[in-house]
Amino acid sequence: EDAIAKLPNIDPDALSITKTTTPKELLPPEELVFGRTFTDHMLSIEWTASEGWLRPRITPYQNLSLDPATCVFHYAFEAFEGMKAYKSPNGDLRLFRPDRNMRRFNRSVERIALPTFDGKALTELISRFVRMEERFVPSSRGYSLYLRPTLIGTQRTLGVGPPGSALLYLIASPVGPYYPTGFKAISLAATSNAVRAWPGGVGDRKLGANYAPCIVPQLEAAKRGYHQNLWLFGEEEIVTEAGTMNFFVCLREKGTGKKMMWTAPLDGTILEGVIRESVLELARENLGPEGWEVEEKNYTMRDLAEAADEGRLIEAFGTGTAAVVSPVRKINWRGRDVDCGLKAGEEVGEVTNRMKGWIEGIQYGDVEHRWSVKL
Ligand code: PMP
Repeated sequence: EDAIAKLPNIDPDALSITKTTTPKELLPPEELVFGRTFTDHMLSIEWTASEGWLRPRITPYQNLSLDPATCVFHYAFEAFEGMKAYKSPNGDLRLFRPDRNMRRFNRSVERIALPTFDGKALTELISRFVRMEERFVPSSRGYSLYLRPTLIGTQRTLGVGPPGSALLYLIASPVGPYYPTGFKAISLAATSNAVRAWPGGVGDRKLGANYAPCIVPQLEAAKRGYHQNLWLFGEEEIVTEAGTMNFFVCLREKGTGKKMMWTAPLDGTILEGVIRESVLELARENLGPEGWEVEEKNYTMRDLAEAADEGRLIEAFGTGTAAVVSPVRKINWRGRDVDCGLKAGEEVGEVTNRMKGWIEGIQYGDVEHRWSVKL
């Protein structure tokens, strides 16, 4: 173990840079499609069990060349992160709580026997990379550069075991606002026949293997006219997450009428969203004084349906890096639609809308905040 501890960690000072000789043309902002076009370069850092982390390299964006027996292709040794770089109106480049993404990334990779790393060192390299790709960071509100750090096992073997080599790489995609024409409330299909995550499972880690199995249930929901699944868990039908977003509800407490905001607790069956944590903190800080009680707790689909039937459901929304907040109109459950409190013609509730404003204000540097890291 001592020998492993002494192996080199990621060293930003050892970075080598090879610039592209064929810079890409920028797409007009309105033509950006999420995750379809990428910047000029990529960052790569190889790891081996005997040498530790090798020299980081920024090179032109290029294909990987991997043997067909490479373990990532067979046993899903892959974990990733999703984060964004923002450009403020005065041109500053910013990251939003990168320490949270680095912590989560390390938790994900360690669960699948991939090497952990110094999160500060990787953040430093991501910052240099973003500064290099600055021209790809769109400057309008709602636009950003989506960053995809990825770690894969690269050992060439069909043996099932811990990878002896790995590759960490970063690619980046300029993205537009999730709702280019303003908010659109989504509808959810409550899903309990397919289970996204379970106690003792890996649903709380950002592993590629968690995502592919969610596509067929999502297509089934879409076929019935619903945008995303609301993943329920267990006999009691506990509400966990919505699609690839954490899920929040605002409602009045039965009896007292007290204003409550609920989201599922971090019990291992939901992903620890960066926006989730931020919403919780901002809600406690800004909505607490207005009489709101903010709780991380298990609640059921039956609780929501009852609140809706009694006119106590105020609003519901999903949270995630992509959309920040996504208002929810209705949830299909046991053959009926549970109405989440939006009025006819309304696309977003007041709390949801204020929350988006607070978070974007921090992300784009309208207000200085410890969560926004200027590069
Ligand atoms: N849940 C799942 C399953 C996700 O994939 C994501 C996106 N990373 C989230 C929630 C939201 O997390 P974050 O706020 O960090 O984007």
